[in-house]
Amino acid sequence: MTFNPQIIQDIHEIVLKAEKIVIVSHKSPDGDSLGSSLGLFHFLKKLKLNVTICHPDRSSYIYKWLEDIKEILIFEDDSDKVLEKISNADLIFCLDFNAFDRLGVELGSAVENSKAEKILLDHHQNPTINSAHRIWDNTRASTSELIFDFIEYSNNLNLLDEKIARYLYLGIMTDTGSFRFQSVSARTHQIICDLLKTGLNHTEIHENIYDSNTLDRIKLKSFAIVEKLEIINDFPIGVITLLKTELKRFNFQKGDTEGLVNMILSIENIKIAAIFIENDEGIKISFRSKGNYFVNELAYKYFNGGGHKYAAGGFSNQKMEEAVSKFKEIVCSGFYEK
Ligand code: 5GP
Ligand code: MN
Repeated sequence: MTFNPQIIQDIHEIVLKAEKIVIVSHKSPDGDSLGSSLGLFHFLKKLKLNVTICHPDRSSYIYKWLEDIKEILIFEDDSDKVLEKISNADLIFCLDFNAFDRLGVELGSAVENSKAEKILLDHHQNPTINSAHRIWDNTRASTSELIFDFIEYSNNLNLLDEKIARYLYLGIMTDTGSFRFQSVSARTHQIICDLLKTGLNHTEIHENIYDSNTLDRIKLKSFAIVEKLEIINDFPIGVITLLKTELKRFNFQKGDTEGLVNMILSIENIKIAAIFIENDEGIKISFRSKGNYFVNELAYKYFNGGGHKYAAGGFSNQKMEEAVSKFKEIVCSGFYEK
């Protein structure tokens, strides 16, 4: 690990003295941001601490079954309340993101400028958040694993219960593609072993995430693959674009396109997959890759984003055709190849 267990004990001391704690995590919350936020939330509650989770925006309906989803204050719904929480906080946990702009401009600058002590708990590369205290390790598969480390190395494993375990399991399961990705380690499985010992129902979590399609969602994905997938001639690259009008046809809801980019990557000989999705603000892009093809630099340098070597994302203000042409030019020039 790139942090020392002593760091966790020091952070634990600081946390115990905090009077108002806020947990924030990145925009478009995924399983790991939700799982780590809710897992940490319940752990801190068990320590009898005053804690609130504030997320920038709502999560996809995929997570609607999470019983505590309503505990989360949402900035896009109730910005005044969230800003008040941030300004009154004396300690802010920054979970699962490496730069304040991942919270959005307004919430990001409120957190950055708040007087509260900040603790970064994250596994993304090159964090730009200047916190005196951090539990950061980019070799780890998920932030939820780091929450487990925090619980274990602060000598609080006795407080781990089925509820906390369920949330951490969700985060680890989703960020590892169900324990498949290269980032999975012996430590990942060791943690899962301890989580299972609490009696959690892991099948229920898998079913809720992976077997909960709507018909519209299946139709949208089928349309995307059949009508919109382009394999770039002579290159191991596949790309899908989806316009707002196309999404509307299938009653698009946030989360409906999740997994689509991985489907592209699963096609034989494809090494880089990209999906460009138009929304009200512009075009959200997701990249996936394998082997010697890294997409984080591509996202960072050209698409205002970042991420991990094999999973990254970004954003474009250009028109769809322009954004995709730019992508094709860059990847076909071999920029990404290491
Ligand atoms: P996804 O494609 O699932 O939205 O994101 C995959 C990964 O890329 C995320 O875990 C996150 O690390 C990164 N990522 C996605 N969008 C952005 C973005 O707009 N900015 C940055 N810095 N990273 C992003
Ligand atoms: Mn994560």
